[in-house]
Amino acid sequence: MLVSAKEMLEKARDGHYAVGQFNINNLEWTKAILMTAEELKSPVILGVSEGAGKYMTGYKTVVGMVNGMLEELKITVPVALHLDHGSYEGALKCIEAGFSSVMFDGSHYPIDENVEKTTELVKLCAEKGLSLEAEVGSIGGEEDGVVGMGEVADPAECKRIADLGVTMLAAGIGNIHGKYPENWPGLRFDALEAIKALTGSMPLVLHGGTGIPEDMIKKAISLGVAKINVNTECQLSFAAATREYIEAGKDLQGKGFDPRKLLAPGTEAIKATVKEKMELFGSIGKA
Ligand SMILES: [Zn+2]
Repeated sequence: MLVSAKEMLEKARDGHYAVGQFNINNLEWTKAILMTAEELKSPVILGVSEGAGKYMTGYKTVVGMVNGMLEELKITVPVALHLDHGSYEGALKCIEAGFSSVMFDGSHYPIDENVEKTTELVKLCAEKGLSLEAEVGSIGGEEDGVVGMGEVADPAECKRIADLGVTMLAAGIGNIHGKYPENWPGLRFDALEAIKALTGSMPLVLHGGTGIPEDMIKKAISLGVAKINVNTECQLSFAAATREYIEAGKDLQGKGFDPRKLLAPGTEAIKATVKEKMELFGSIGKA
């Protein structure tokens, strides 16, 4: 059964480790992540962007697939199904469809409007027992072909949103989505400390986990980050393994074109990436 992310994140915060959010795109992704979490006895959060939700034909399909897999694979570790960077309308749809957690990304709204919409969702999620992630200070990255250097959230605005009663808070601390540029100056730990000082026990979320050096990840966890989002890295490892299979001509040998064979190396590569991240985040054996 899907669970809210609240309990697993509070445990992570108190235990000084982080739970990984791994974004899913299809059956292979979901299977790889769930099997790895179960094998390593780690709690896990499955992230679904609005685009990925659409790709999988809709949120109900996602809920049906994930719930079916939890049962068929006999998954016993805590699993949350979470909308990633949701719009207000998208959050409502996911709550309706049976997600156990949603993110409302109101960071592009003026702070008052972000507060207003987040407040409404806090109420709805509380009624249904879902966890809610809010965002302050947009997290940069390659959007519309422009790579930003990563914004830094205003700690006072973070406190305002945290005080609304959200479960976890994503705040820009110089992190960005996708691959990091060569001249990226690194995470802003001064900003993270200032945000932590004002938001107290609120579990903090680090987006854009692909390509942040390991020592910076560990330091961020020690400063209150309890959830780390990984998306691009699984895509890169899946693509590399699939490329290797095709380039070796394996799809041309026997029944190598069978999708169950063709997609197997990529699926294994996702498992390896998830394992590596769970080791780094310290969530193994914490389920
Ligand atoms: Zn993000």
